[in-house]
Order: sequence, then C-alpha cells, then structure tokens
Amino acid sequence: MTDTARGGILQRDKETYAIVPKVSMGLLTPEYLEGIAKTARKYNIPVIKITSAQRIALVGIKKEDIENVWHDLNMEVGYPVGACLHYVQSCPGTEACRLAQNNSLTMAQKLDELLGNMDLPAKTKVGVSGCPLNCGEGFVRDIGLFGKKTGWTVIIGGNSGLNARVGDVLAENLSEEEALNLVKKFAEFYIANAKNRERLYRFVPRIGIAEIKRELNL
Ligand code: SF4
Repeated sequence: MTDTARGGILQRDKETYAIVPKVSMGLLTPEYLEGIAKTARKYNIPVIKITSAQRIALVGIKKEDIENVWHDLNMEVGYPVGACLHYVQSCPGTEACRLAQNNSLTMAQKLDELLGNMDLPAKTKVGVSGCPLNCGEGFVRDIGLFGKKTGWTVIIGGNSGLNARVGDVLAENLSEEEALNLVKKFAEFYIANAKNRERLYRFVPRIGIAEIKRELNL
C-alpha cells in the first residue's frame, strides 16, 4: 500500500498519494497551518483531512510532486510504519478545559519521548486525558492514562478497531513520575514477553492483568 512513509500512501485511484507531516498531540501553530495551506495551494492538493490520530493528511498528491511537497513543507514525516509508537493523542487538559484535573498535554509529550525511543514489538497507540471523562480515549488505546485529583490512572490493552476491547486498569493514583516509571516498566515487560507483532489488546488478555500486576510488583 505504501512505498515508504515518506514516499506517500497510495490512494484508491492507484495514481495519487497521501502524506502525513508530523503533529504531536494535535498541537498546531500558525506557521504549521500556513505551511500546509501554502503547499496545498501550490500543488493543487485536493483533500486536507484531519485524521483520527490528530494529524493532518494531505491527500491526492501526484507521485512526481511528493518530494517537492516535502521540501516545501520542511516538516518531519508523521506517519510511522510497522512495529513502533504510532501516536500519542491527548485531550487539551489543563491547558484549555475547565474540567481537567491533570496536565494531559505535558504527560502526552513525556510519553511520546519515552515510548518513541523504545523498540516496541507492535504498533502502539496511546491516549491521554486530563480527567475521568477520557476524551483522549485511553480505554481503547494500547496504553491509556487519565488524570484525577488523586493522580494518574494507567490503562493497558484497549483497542477501538475491528477487535474492539476496553483496556484494563493497571494502577491508579500515581504521581507523574510514578506513572511514567510504570509505563516504562510495563513496556519493558511487553518487549520481553510479546510474540512477534503482538498488539497489546492481544498480549494483555493472553498474559492476564493479574499476572501482569504480579510481574510488575503491583
Ligand atoms: S477528558 Fe476531561 S480534561 Fe480532557 S477534554 Fe475531556 S473533559 Fe476536558
């Protein structure tokens, strides 16, 4: 379906491609938006779509234009392929939501750095929310976190796709440091024990949440 992420994702017409520049946690800047708009006009890109991963896809690019589009955008590729962290989505949290009980954007940024540097066994998606309403959808992501006044809750093994699954709560009432340490420890356990390309929505029920907690001394 794709030559490489930078080469673009071949579309249904089998002629044009989509590319996805990097956006962390859906946070945009005027410069980013101006760059997208200017490039889309210059190359007559017909579709600009916000994706479910809080990114912006430019769709309908001619193959011969792809490298020039990247050159003009001067942005990193934001569409990871294969076994790795695919994205960390986040609700606005304390930056912009009156209901927030914790800073989801800061947590999401730290998780992006932490998990982005780990050699994960399979595609991994993360959702972070600033309160129990969970607008960041952590219960249906491979790893989810949400904030309460008493601290962070960590969820593992959720999925929103064909094999939909509500994740299991791994631990609650954690400080930011404790939550990040636990995610790291759990990711190391996942790396050491997963089958080839085993997503967390399969790994967690296979091992069992009680056993995972035991292994992590929870
Ligand atoms: S999860 Fe809570 S803090 Fe985040 S946007 Fe929704 S209501 Fe606001």
